[in-house]
Amino acid sequence: MNKTQTNCPICDGAAKQADATTGDFLEISCPECGEFQISRTFLQVVKDHPVSVRRQSLERAKIRARYGLPPLVTSYDLP
Ligand SMILES: [Zn+2]
Repeated sequence: MNKTQTNCPICDGAAKQADATTGDFLEISCPECGEFQISRTFLQVVKDHPVSVRRQSLERAKIRARYGLPPLVTSYDLP
């Protein structure tokens, strides 16, 4: 899978991004936040939220994630 350099949508640090096989999501690999998937709708609104709120959203997604699968952060995880 092709990975491109990007800024982490959660912490704004350097991360890698790959297109997930199921179109509406991106896979992010961040040295600080780990591996997770993010919906394109979340990506569109994430810049409107401070980093602390983004981290909360990722934490919520981690709690919800099934064992062995990367967490999927969607706009529903925003407060
Ligand atoms: Zn990050």
